[in-house]
Amino acid sequence: TESLATRDPEIWKSITDELERQRDEIELIASENIVSKAVMEAQGSVMTNKYAEGYAGKRYYGGCQCVDVAETLAIERAKQIFGCEYANVQPNSGSQANQGVYNALLAPGDTIMGMSLDAGGHLTHGARPNQSGKWFHAVQYGVRKQDSLLDYDQVLALAKEHMPKLIVAGGSAIPRQIDFKKFREIADEVGAILMVDMAHFAGLVAGGQHPSPFPYADVVTTTTHKTLRGPRGGMILTNNEEIAKKVNSAIFPGIQGGPLMHVIAGKAVAFGEALRPEFKDYAKQVVLNAKALADELQKGGLDIVTGGTDTHLMLVDLRPKGVKGNATEKALGRAHITCNKNGIPFDPEKPTVTSGVRLGTPAGTTRGFKEEEFREIGRLIVEVVDGLAKNGEDDNAEVEAAVSQKVATLLKRFPIYPTL
Ligand code: PLP
Repeated sequence: TESLATRDPEIWKSITDELERQRDEIELIASENIVSKAVMEAQGSVMTNKYAEGYAGKRYYGGCQCVDVAETLAIERAKQIFGCEYANVQPNSGSQANQGVYNALLAPGDTIMGMSLDAGGHLTHGARPNQSGKWFHAVQYGVRKQDSLLDYDQVLALAKEHMPKLIVAGGSAIPRQIDFKKFREIADEVGAILMVDMAHFAGLVAGGQHPSPFPYADVVTTTTHKTLRGPRGGMILTNNEEIAKKVNSAIFPGIQGGPLMHVIAGKAVAFGEALRPEFKDYAKQVVLNAKALADELQKGGLDIVTGGTDTHLMLVDLRPKGVKGNATEKALGRAHITCNKNGIPFDPEKPTVTSGVRLGTPAGTTRGFKEEEFREIGRLIVEVVDGLAKNGEDDNAEVEAAVSQKVATLLKRFPIYPTL
């Protein structure tokens, strides 16, 4: 019966401080969002108490009749959103969704092909420090030097050379739509399985603002917490019955035990939200906002990798201003604008420094910002970056304080979680 505030004041304070931080900062991290109170209610529910190893109707524990309802709803809604036949909603994260697919369809030593980390891929697509890069022979493709666009010619050439068993399309810093048909043709040419990791743009697919990986992909993985705006977690989708069966066994008992039923309930709630007409408006606005922000940053003298965006994210090349990604992330942070430093393709700087920042519009769009607000945010970013270029890292406090005041004024009009 005791509340968190009195039972554990230290943790309670860290949570209320985090709430204040989220209220007081403009969130531009492309992989983050702001979930509804309903999603959080489901996630903070008694379903956390329940063991439910197995799948609905075939559990290894008694008393699963209620969690079965939640998991079945999550599956049915996911299938409806993405127009596919099978969904596994149990992966605890996007990484485990990818690991689950590899576990289902590959053996150690097999060849996989994915986008390299420095070109915009994800760790789990075959990067060296990740299990995917250690247990498999991972071949990595990238982007073209001349325009930083995905290099399909290279994908084809490497596929022919290495004959991968599985090709991954998708990534964490790709500002343009991916040509799934082209990937299918390449996969067919070498007899590879095509996996699309749509973690970043799943919400845009759900909202009709990005082509669907179906029918081209054999299997699709995603996180549920980025543009899709659900609780932190993963999911695997397919139209292939054989793959679906293998994936189910690969997740449980392959790599996971009891599923996080409270999170699965939260996923079901988020998927229900994604099926509502308002979600289409949100997805459309996410893309409009990204285009407006990119345009304003270009007007302010910054370069945008590939010259713009047609998704929710952009990579800002800071080199025209002579500042680095790490210093810019910190300076913007002091001005209450949150983002992450990010390498740009062929970045001459180390990954801990970088020449760029990655910016995204999902969280701001959920908050209610439209193009006008994102243009203002673009101008505020340019103000901080220009200050940084002129004053240096240690003497830019005045500019950063002035911008943080403007951020506070903007955010007052867009409160979040007013009843928490
Ligand atoms: N796949 C892609 C494309 C991602 O961007 C991410 C997260 O950044 C993941 C997978 C991994 O998701 P998680 O952080 O939930 O493990």
